[in-house]
Formats: sequence, C-alpha cells, structure tokens
Amino acid sequence: MHAQPRPETSSAVLIRGGRVIDPASGADHAADVLIRNGRVEAIGPDLDAPGAEVLDATGCLVTPGLIDPHVHLREPGFTHKEDIASGTGAAVAGGFTTVCCMPNTRPTIDVPEVVCWITDRAAATGCCRVFCVSAGTLGRKGVELADIDGCVAAGSVGISDDGDAIADPDIMQRVLERCAEHDRVFMQHCQDPAMTAGSVMHEGRVSRRLGLTGWPREAEETIVARDIDLARQTGARYHIQHISSAGTVELIRQARSEGLAVSGEASPHHLLLTDEAIERLGSAAKMNPPLREWPDVLALREGVADGTVTVLATDHAPHATDEKRNPMASAPFGIIGLETALALYAEALVHNGLIGWDRLIALMTIEPARLCNLDQQGLGSLTVGGPGDVTVIDPEREWVISPDDLKGKSVNTPFLGRAVRGRAVATVVGGRVAFRLEREAAVV
Ligand SMILES: [Zn+2]
Repeated sequence: MHAQPRPETSSAVLIRGGRVIDPASGADHAADVLIRNGRVEAIGPDLDAPGAEVLDATGCLVTPGLIDPHVHLREPGFTHKEDIASGTGAAVAGGFTTVCCMPNTRPTIDVPEVVCWITDRAAATGCCRVFCVSAGTLGRKGVELADIDGCVAAGSVGISDDGDAIADPDIMQRVLERCAEHDRVFMQHCQDPAMTAGSVMHEGRVSRRLGLTGWPREAEETIVARDIDLARQTGARYHIQHISSAGTVELIRQARSEGLAVSGEASPHHLLLTDEAIERLGSAAKMNPPLREWPDVLALREGVADGTVTVLATDHAPHATDEKRNPMASAPFGIIGLETALALYAEALVHNGLIGWDRLIALMTIEPARLCNLDQQGLGSLTVGGPGDVTVIDPEREWVISPDDLKGKSVNTPFLGRAVRGRAVATVVGGRVAFRLEREAAVV
C-alpha cells in the first residue's frame, strides 16, 4: 500500500506506564503498549519485552498517531518554503504520524503521475505517512475536471482545489459526482472570488482603521450554502476547510441535523485569534480565510464542543521569512502549524473545560481518519494488530513556543513567544520512534 514509512522491523518499542486513550474503541485505561514489526503487538498491564526500546509514559497520554488532513508540504515546486522531508519532520515533532497534503504544488496534484511521485518521494524522504489530496480541476483553475479517477486509483484520499474554491456551480456539481462515485470526500476552500478581490483581512472595524481591503464573512458563507445544496443533490461527502465565520458553523449544524454528509474543520488560529492580531503582528497574522472577531471564535469553539465541527486541521502553510516581510497587501497568506497545533488546541478547547482530552484526541485521530477513509487501513485507532502509529502526549508539559521548536524550513507563526501547555513527547510511526523530545528540553 502507498504511504508506508520505512518500517523498523528489527526492533520493538515498549511504551510504559501511560494512560491509553483510543476514542475509536472507547478505551481509556492505564496500560503499556508493545509495538513490534511495525504493528501493535500487545496492550495491557506490566508488559515486558527484552531488548525493546522503552519509552517512559508516566503521567502521559498514549494515543493513536495524530492525523492532520490539511497540510501544505510545498514539494514539488516550492521547496524554498518546505519540502516533504522538512514538513514531515515538523509533523512528527508535533505528534502527527499521518498528514494529507494539498494539491497546490507545482505541478499541481491533478494527474496520477504526481500522486505517485509524491508517494514515492515521501517513502524515500518522509518521517511520517503522507497521503495526497488531489485537485478537482486541472491546475486548480476551476474550468476542466482533473483526472479524479486516475488520482483516486493512484491513492488520492480526498479531492480539493484548496487555495481556491470551485466557483462555477456546474463544474462543482460534476466534481462532487465523481467524488460520490469514488467515496472520496470533497474538501472546499470556501472563498467567493467575486467578493474577495484584493482582500487582505476580515472586513470590519480593524480593517477600516488600518485602511486595508476587507474580506466579508459572506464570501465564505455563500459558497458553503451553495455547496450544501449540491451535496444534497449529489450525495457526495462535503467538507469545509478552515472555518472562519460563525455563520458557517450554523450552516454546518443545520446540514448535519438534516442528515447530510457535511463536515468542517477548525484550525488553531481561528480558535484563538481575532483580526486584532493583524494590528499587533502584521503579515504574521495574515491568513486565508482571515482571522475574524471574537463571536466567530466562540461560535467555532461551541461548534467543536457540541459536535458540529468534527475535525481539527492545521492548514500548515509555510512561507519563507523574506516573503512574509513584504508589505501587508502583497505578503502571502498562511502560517505554519504542525509543531504547535496540539498545545494550541488544548488551550482553546481543553484547558478551559469545553471538551476533554479524549474528545480532542478523537478530533485529531479517528475523525480525520474517517474523513479520508484512512480508518480502512487501521489508521486513527490504537488496537492490537493495528498499525504501530502512536503518540505520547504530556498534557501538563509547559513550554514557550520558540524558533528552536520549529523543525520545518519556515518560522511564520504568530504564536512565537506564547506560553502553552501540552506537548507530544514521543511519536512512533510504523513501529519506528520518529520523534522523541530530548530530556534537556523536557526541563521547564
Ligand atoms: Zn485553504
């Protein structure tokens, strides 16, 4: 099968003394986990395995490997920003064992040859599993359908023109029909281009004060509303990427109450920041869709808490420092997220009591696995016989986000200097310890 990391078949890994949480099965108990030959061999008390590499998980959560269904690895085409090796290095440092990469590479992931190229490249250079999300239209131009059939056959796990919405409803309908036929989710970047020409940030008090071109909530909500109708007509699974507005959360709530296969994802920045961050941080807080206002942040958190929003995704979007230094109007959109996401989600959702760690783990494992059909390969859960993908999380580890913590090529994040709590201390991918926080770094 595609996207397998190089397995370490000669050794075993024993994770001792942690609290094992597997939301897929409902398991939540103290146990050791033994991984051998790339798979979970045993879960239980007082396991022993002479010669195994031992990870001490005392005081830690032991969870299925985290899955991020929305990252930009920038390879091929933009390797000055990131590449598969550096992006997956950032992933395992953040506790992720699987990432799904978006198709806005050069060339675009719109033909099976590119899916295969990335899959092979990830097998050769990657630190974790990499799956492709391929484009709905050729070149993501929204005009002609991409080779969806071929890309799915080559291993594509979802379809998206991320970076752009498919604006033409007829094209969108045809893409959704292909998705339905292949049981692949369509992930929409909801941005009406007619409402966002030259837009830099959320349209509101702050944009007016700064004299910057605004981006209204309606630019997102109109695409969501249109697409929910198309999802109803086609029966396709439809997923809204990086939700930014309260109105979108409500549209998803209504669609789900109708029984439609509509889902959405929240990103760390939209759960924590508002457009006022632009005033303090400039282009470091420039992202697409833009940061909005406090009621939007609260609605998004409420959506996660009540089960409307079922997936968390970073939208890890690396850019070189000199690109982000450009004036606000011309600096690129996007921030990185893989290394910092877990702690930021915990701050936005767990430390304040909105949800428990067990639900947070579900939102980062079995839920994105089901979205992208990865559960069919056993990913997203932690069971005997399943893949040896495990994340060890210290929920109380306090740290301050610094450039030293960032393992990718880019450091574009508005969260530098933020004191946070909760961190992946070890990441096991296919039975291989792909990341382990060094002891010195563990001392607060
Ligand atoms: Zn996007």
